[in-house]
Amino acid sequence: MRRYENEHLLFAPGVLKATRKLFKARPWHGDEARLREIYSRWVDRASEAHGIYSPNLMFRLEPEAPRGAGYYDRYTKTLFLYRPSIITLFHEFRHHVQCERGRDVRGRTWMEDDARAFSLSLYKRVRPERFTEAVQAGTVLFTQPETESA
Ligand SMILES: [Zn+2]
Repeated sequence: MRRYENEHLLFAPGVLKATRKLFKARPWHGDEARLREIYSRWVDRASEAHGIYSPNLMFRLEPEAPRGAGYYDRYTKTLFLYRPSIITLFHEFRHHVQCERGRDVRGRTWMEDDARAFSLSLYKRVRPERFTEAVQAGTVLFTQPETESA
């Protein structure tokens, strides 16, 4: 059975390095300004590792926002996050990579699958124990394609 965290296997060394630094900075502690700075640093490093320009990053934190609330605006090249979440950060960043590489023509389903595979696989690769705990705690959305997860 497909699981997103096992699907994306090839990461640029710079992305892994940036992500290790991100986790070391404990990106779940602190106020909005601190988190924004830590997330931005990851976005810049990961963009550099991909050889693309950094997207903009907008924090629009809303206490009532559902888990996973985020959005990538391809026209302004902006990641919007409505809750602090590194999985959402990775996911929306992946949409930026897709658009920068002209892969957005492959369609919505492919883009979602690819973004979910990238975000969960990256998390699992860098922090496998923490990832497993998060899955067991039920805080990770979309661990499998919806059509197969019923
Ligand atoms: Zn998406």
